[in-house]
Amino acid sequence: MAGIYIHIPFCRKACTYCNFHFSTNLDRKAEFLSALWREIDLRDSFLTDKKIDTVYFGGGTPSVLNPGELEAVFQKLDEHYDLSHAAEITLEANPDDLDETYIRQLTDSRINRLSIGIQSFNDRVLKWMNRSHESAQAHRAIEWSLKYGFEQLTIDLIYGVPGRPTAEFAAELERINEYGIPHFSAYALTVEPKTLLAHRIKKGLEKPPAAEETVDQFEFLMNWAPSSGYEQYEISNFARPGFRAQHNSSYWNGVPYLGLGPSAHSFDGKNRYWNISNNALYCRELIAGSTSLEMEKLTPLNIFNEYIMTGLRLAEGIQREKALNLLPGAAKNFDHTSAEMLRSGWIAIEDGQHIKLTQKGKLVADYVASEYMEVD
Ligand code: SF4
Repeated sequence: MAGIYIHIPFCRKACTYCNFHFSTNLDRKAEFLSALWREIDLRDSFLTDKKIDTVYFGGGTPSVLNPGELEAVFQKLDEHYDLSHAAEITLEANPDDLDETYIRQLTDSRINRLSIGIQSFNDRVLKWMNRSHESAQAHRAIEWSLKYGFEQLTIDLIYGVPGRPTAEFAAELERINEYGIPHFSAYALTVEPKTLLAHRIKKGLEKPPAAEETVDQFEFLMNWAPSSGYEQYEISNFARPGFRAQHNSSYWNGVPYLGLGPSAHSFDGKNRYWNISNNALYCRELIAGSTSLEMEKLTPLNIFNEYIMTGLRLAEGIQREKALNLLPGAAKNFDHTSAEMLRSGWIAIEDGQHIKLTQKGKLVADYVASEYMEVD
């Protein structure tokens, strides 16, 4: 199995909370696409398996690419890979790009899953986030996507917005249900360093998110989801039966993937690689014939810690035997931690093997993972 991720590093506006890699200078789009072609050629040998199961256009805002540009990316990939079996090809898109014509054109493309960056249905919140769309565009984008047959539809929502009551977030969740959207991701608002939001909070111009409100909304979400037919199959991801995201599930399960574009990460089954997070340097190096890749060689310790960190977030949890096969020396701390976490009510253990976070444990998931993790 193998996947391809393509990072499209452009956005129409900078959202205040965002720390992803993007530029609002769309004038460099053509230069970026030329560099991307070079990267696809140069990294031809990265994946040994040429049959691709999933493709994911992420960003940034991939919907800044017009249908012709998307088709050109596919044609370039066709020179190196067999995409004919790719069951899931996702395009992240913002509502302001998803007008009826664009969506209709996408139905003729190989994109079969849309991931729409809704974040909120509330205009006050959208404005506060400096999103490039308004709620009316969000509603229309969903309606047209469903009308034109994008059954595989997912949206992103953000909770824990300062001053927004849980009742308002609850109303947004109900919208998902009313539309019958089969998958959604919900993320707590976090204040990342070097973002406009962090700057404004530091200057006293904004309140930071209140931990109690964030916890309250996450608990509400975890209770609401199963009663509305959604499985919380990953801590931030919710799906109706049969609609789990295949591409992200492959990441979480250690399937190799090639990441193309500035800041994109790759995994070859043994080591991790990432591209430079700078559009100009990415383009310059590729056009000169080299890549800007950095590599982290994964040690058994890294692999063990990644398994804990990723696995605990999944509904399936982690397996004691699998973890200790990765790092046999971790057994003493592993069993001690399991006993402690069980006493705290943060995990459940099935068959003496399968360790899963309880709902209470999901509120402190990072802490639980850190207790299992090992250091050099
Ligand atoms: S559209 Fe997405 S990637 Fe772009 S700035 Fe906003 S949150 Fe970040």
